[in-house]
Amino acid sequence: MTDHVKMLHSVVSLDYERPPTLATREYLDAVRQKRLIGHRCPECGRVYLPPKGYCPVCVVATDNRDEVNLPTTGVLVTYTVLNPDALHALGQGSTCRGTVMLDGTAVPIMGTISVTPAEIHTGMRVRGVWGELTTADMVDPGWGVPGLKAWEPTGEPDVGADEVQRLLSEAT
Ligand SMILES: [Zn+2]
Repeated sequence: MTDHVKMLHSVVSLDYERPPTLATREYLDAVRQKRLIGHRCPECGRVYLPPKGYCPVCVVATDNRDEVNLPTTGVLVTYTVLNPDALHALGQGSTCRGTVMLDGTAVPIMGTISVTPAEIHTGMRVRGVWGELTTADMVDPGWGVPGLKAWEPTGEPDVGADEVQRLLSEAT
């Protein structure tokens, strides 16, 4: 009797290149100048950062005629505290990470929040801090903005819990 193959193990590697779109190139050019730009959908008014070249909700193309300048300020809407015994924070003190809803957009941006664990809370008004822009940032900014190394409190009054909830419900 022949044994039937029940399982095969194989390793697959796939390298690919994704050329940046015109909207992405314009966005990265602005970031090199420490500016943030987005595209405002002409149909629904949503602002996308980085600009996608279209609105996925309305299925409408956008281009540099829809470009808007954006501030580096926003509201902290979620956060977590990474403790030193966490695998990815070994050798460091506690680090605050959070999600910021940039003013004028409904786009959540993640990053390091420059406050202590005792200070962090949702509703904080924060400002992005520009740092060195690395090639690695440009290639893969993750859920952040390339060049924005952290977010610091602006000193403005907090926004209320209702506003935080509204921002979260509108996140795209
Ligand atoms: Zn739209």
